[in-house]
Amino acid sequence: MRRAIFPGSFDPLTLGHYDIIKRGVTLFDEVIVAIGVNADKKYMFSLEERKQFIEEAFTDEPRIKVVIYKGLTVDFCKEIDVEFILRGLRNPADFEFEKAIAHTNRDLAPIETVFLLTSAKTSYIASSIVRDVIRNNGDYTKLVPKSVRHK
Ligand code: ADP
Repeated sequence: MRRAIFPGSFDPLTLGHYDIIKRGVTLFDEVIVAIGVNADKKYMFSLEERKQFIEEAFTDEPRIKVVIYKGLTVDFCKEIDVEFILRGLRNPADFEFEKAIAHTNRDLAPIETVFLLTSAKTSYIASSIVRDVIRNNGDYTKLVPKSVRHK
């Protein structure tokens, strides 16, 4: 069975992430959305909220799982016996950043990183933009799946 993890902060899940995950399950038997915990980072949404948004967005898709992990992504891959890391690419900045991470990961473990190019419609969406729109009371609902709501 081919399984991939899709790691990130998902603060919050956006339509950009949603698109990559949906397309990911056409390539893999299972996509595990893995929320990485970084104790030094401040988040807008709690870990539980972020997890719930993703679970609710994919309730109809049993091949998409959501987990929380700490530490190195490759260590977590080994722990749960996953051979692929799925990542999305939006622009050259993403490429440079992802290239360094993918090369480092491959030095650390025999795990392949598979990249999907963002869809044209969601290419400009980032969690940081969503948070900015929320902070300034704008309509963020067009940028995120229906399950994502700020209280
Ligand atoms: P981080 O890894 O900085 O916490 P995110 O949680 O936002 O970043 O993103 C996780 C993954 O989703 C990354 O591979 C990122 O490139 C990808 N991604 C984020 N937004 C989009 C988008 N609009 N289109 C395609 N991929 C995206």
